[in-house]
Amino acid sequence: MKTVYFDNNATTKVDEAVFEEIKPYFCGLYGNPSSMHTFGGQVGIKIRNAREKAAELLGCDPSEIIFTGCGTESDNTAIKGTLAAYPDKRKVITTRVEHPAVLTVCRELESHGYNVVELGVDKNGRLDLNELEDQLDEDTAIVTIMFANNETGTIFPIQKIGEMVTSRGIVFHTDAVQAVGKVPINLSKSPIDLLSLSGHKLHAPKGIGILYVKRGTRLTPFMMGGHQEGGRRAGTENVPGIIGLGKACELSKQNFDKEIKHVRHLRDKLEKAILESCPDCMVNGDVENRLPNTSNISFKFVEGEAILLMLDKFGICASSGSACTSGSLEPSHVLRAMGVPFTAAHGSIRFSLSRYNTEEEVDFTIEKIPPVIARLRELSPFVAK
Ligand code: PLP
Repeated sequence: MKTVYFDNNATTKVDEAVFEEIKPYFCGLYGNPSSMHTFGGQVGIKIRNAREKAAELLGCDPSEIIFTGCGTESDNTAIKGTLAAYPDKRKVITTRVEHPAVLTVCRELESHGYNVVELGVDKNGRLDLNELEDQLDEDTAIVTIMFANNETGTIFPIQKIGEMVTSRGIVFHTDAVQAVGKVPINLSKSPIDLLSLSGHKLHAPKGIGILYVKRGTRLTPFMMGGHQEGGRRAGTENVPGIIGLGKACELSKQNFDKEIKHVRHLRDKLEKAILESCPDCMVNGDVENRLPNTSNISFKFVEGEAILLMLDKFGICASSGSACTSGSLEPSHVLRAMGVPFTAAHGSIRFSLSRYNTEEEVDFTIEKIPPVIARLRELSPFVAK
């Protein structure tokens, strides 16, 4: 059975060209880039190239790129490293819809006495910037707000938010793990001080990330030890990961317009067909400002997990907005923050596409979904018979 992979916000396929690029660095060119000898030194040159390619994609200087172990590490470093650099400031501002890589850190900080403000969102997942403005004060060390939401694809007005925050001398961090490669980003013209990204969302391998640190931004290192990454992130480099991420950044920059057009067309076709063929469906998120690859649809009166299991029988991979916690199915914190009603939040499915998806895959899925939903509704206790 063929796999139809619509779960690219969870992780992406490593691009074949990325794989070819990193292959020599496992068994052949396995030197340590910190070594004095030529064998290790040649690896150091490749890391330099990768840093340049990442900087080109982001529109920044290579010296502003720190390679990390993943998006989660970049987020942790940004928040904890800023607080350590500003020990007198005790306030952190974030949103209720962040990924756990930010939200869990902030909630832990709260238990250590920090004043953490979680901004709410409206029913479309949008922030009220007046609320943010009211919260900015002398005690605020950092504002951390995601570029785009991983569940709904909603894109926040990062330029505007960044200007509001940094004009008051407050550090601005954005988790751009879902945005890089899907929305144009030019850090040379942006008020962003710190930005996180993750390789495995960009057709690079898992276990590699980047933290962009704008020149002049105060940040205490999170990982301490050796002098790697200019002393800003200790630990022997994930050489294949870094080289792979460099290649992935190059490919993303080269193919950006074509790729975005392709995924947007397929996403729109899939979404439109589902809404037309299944009654009682709704799209979650801000459809005007949304990642081009993401569609989060609530199928009212059915369980998301049941839909996923039935789609899985056809090889269709998507993800649901609920998380199974201690035996009870809790709807996602993002949909709850948006006030999506219980009967809709439980039946939410996220389809997230990539450059590898095809018209045939979309047509196949469009054919399979309506009977799956109809069958589940027949069995649903929420639907009047
Ligand atoms: N931030 C967002 C918005 C994400 O979607 C993810 C992963 O899903 C992460 C952070 C964590 O990235 P990583 O898996 O590289 O730790």
